[in-house]
Amino acid sequence: MKAFTYDRADSAVHAAAASARPGAKLIAGGTNLLDLMKLQVETPTELIDINRLPLDKIEDTADGGLRIGATVRNSDLAADHRVRERYGVLSRALLAGASAQLRNRATTGGNLLQRTRCSYFYDVTKPCNKRNPGSGCAALGGFNRMHAVLGASDQCIAANPSDMAVALRVLDADVETVNAEGEVRVIPIAEFHRLPGRTPEVDTTLKAGEIITAVTLPPPPPGVQIYRKVRDRASYAFALVSVAAIVELSAGGIRSARLAFGGLAPKPWRVPQAEERLAGASADAKTFDAVATAVLDGAHGYGSNDFKIPLTRRTLRAVLMQAART
Ligand code: SF4
Repeated sequence: MKAFTYDRADSAVHAAAASARPGAKLIAGGTNLLDLMKLQVETPTELIDINRLPLDKIEDTADGGLRIGATVRNSDLAADHRVRERYGVLSRALLAGASAQLRNRATTGGNLLQRTRCSYFYDVTKPCNKRNPGSGCAALGGFNRMHAVLGASDQCIAANPSDMAVALRVLDADVETVNAEGEVRVIPIAEFHRLPGRTPEVDTTLKAGEIITAVTLPPPPPGVQIYRKVRDRASYAFALVSVAAIVELSAGGIRSARLAFGGLAPKPWRVPQAEERLAGASADAKTFDAVATAVLDGAHGYGSNDFKIPLTRRTLRAVLMQAART
């Protein structure tokens, strides 16, 4: 690890201003950043600690939703009784992520900003456009079992690793930010993570000198909430495929549904046309197959990850069958 200076931010605006300095990085839980520093993927010259900022509260909002501070720990968020009772999909997604020790440190803001787990990104001897723009992509034609089958580009095929973000996507959360001038911005979660295109080094739509202060959840939509994650080990692994679903049943079938997917794309993936196919449809295998086809429109594998396409189809069908039985 290379030498760096350490400072504590005394306000969110101070942290935002400091984060714009060349070589500066914010640190909260550090569960991703410290790994990146040990591997020399990140070599900050200045760390600004935001752990003592008053961003660690979960508060009710006037409209019946929740406002979650950026430094609320993943374990505290998963255990909050309001989250467990009204946003079960979020609580379950959080508990499916990482290990108990990591969840005790990892924060809401940090979870959204975590970098991909593509192994070539973490190996500084390998070409990687996300780490070193213009160097190439070792995963194309390499070992790409964990990689994206939707939304990728010829520059980068990395998948977003977050479980929490998939649940936030199905809940239509907003990300609240502040910049060095004190200006507050609200970014819909759908617009927070970006696709790689020609600039895979840019993961999000955050601007320089802008930091996350909170995530807000609207009131929970009606329906059963499910989070199912398929992974190589039950104890601790990133998703091969995950599905976050909120399904409202009617007497004859499905009244409405929301679906978001993890492990498939560079950002939590949602397909409005697939959800529209479920609205008013009967809850049967024919419907579920048609919905899976809509979700997977345009999907293609890169060799080692071809299996994700049929796996997604089967996982989605299992989730929808579970919802229909509820
Ligand atoms: Fe780098 Fe993306 Fe290619 Fe992985 S998939 S090697 S992160 S450019």
